[in-house]
Amino acid sequence: MPSLPEDAVATIGRLQALIREQDAVIRSQAEALAQSHQLFERASAAARIGVWQCDLSDDSLTWSDVVYDLFDAPRGSVLDRASTVECYTPQSREALHTLRSQAIAERSGFTLDAEIVTPQGRHRWIRLTATVQCENGVAVRIFGMKQDITDEKILSDRTRYLAEFDSMTGLANRHRFEDRLASIGAHATSAIGSLLLVDLDGFKQINDTFGHALGDECLVEMARRLGQSCHGAELVARIGGDEFAILLGADLAETEVLDQAARIVTALSQPVECTDLTLTLSASVGIALVKDSAPSDLFRHADNALYAAKAAGRNTFRLFQNFV
Ligand code: GH3
Ligand code: MG
Repeated sequence: MPSLPEDAVATIGRLQALIREQDAVIRSQAEALAQSHQLFERASAAARIGVWQCDLSDDSLTWSDVVYDLFDAPRGSVLDRASTVECYTPQSREALHTLRSQAIAERSGFTLDAEIVTPQGRHRWIRLTATVQCENGVAVRIFGMKQDITDEKILSDRTRYLAEFDSMTGLANRHRFEDRLASIGAHATSAIGSLLLVDLDGFKQINDTFGHALGDECLVEMARRLGQSCHGAELVARIGGDEFAILLGADLAETEVLDQAARIVTALSQPVECTDLTLTLSASVGIALVKDSAPSDLFRHADNALYAAKAAGRNTFRLFQNFV
């Protein structure tokens, strides 16, 4: 075999060295890429944030592992947008559809907190962010992030609940009641026609005789009965220890309001079956009508009427106008 000229051998040697060098660069870049991918996967798994993208030409989806996990789908399985969208609750699905169509039409993006139910029946809340990508002015891709915000959602729902509801009875709390009461003065015409204040009779004695726990049991039962007998009321609230407030609609005639007060007195005077014994409680009710009281006087007038009901021997109701 004829030998190659010396300079050709040298050139080949240099080329081989160059290829080896480039191989090493490519290998180290691939390692760096793999490491940064691993870092990204770890960080996104820790933050429970995944990335996704959808090709608008054929609706094909690409997900990172976190998104597969969020939807309880086997990692790497072939995705189908229609069945993925099925996981969203009807309300979230509708919101997603509207925002997605709008973002594609406007070449913009959106953020949505959506509720999903996975094929395994798990309920999750996800925060979905999306951005539309265009090529030559045409929307070609939509991509973004999906984050598991279930814990955050539970906490914020709980915080909102505690701000507005009484955790013992489940009725609205004083804060929510005061907001609603203030709304009467804020509008020329109000949906509210009357305020009923209900206070249990001799409740201290129940606590003193049978203990606080049994007292609580009675309060829960009284609240349940109030909620039931005032079905359709604008608001039923526990505003203090053994004190409740009911706002009735403006559509009720005065006689209907009095009938409602009578029904409350009757309902709360029925025996209460407690864990070990049966107790009989009662309550007094004070009523003030919006048509007879300035909004700022409504509460004081109902309280005066309640005082009158107590003074009349309890287990009864009084209307503010009846005794002034
Ligand atoms: P009156 O007929 O005049 O209303 O007499 P009363 O004994 O019911 O007195 P009042 O309404 O002033 O007192 C309410 C009592 O309710 C005071 C307290 O012992 C009790 N109470 C307040 N909050 C709670 C609670 O969360 N649980 C229980 N078990 N009792 C409570
Ligand atoms: Mg009382």
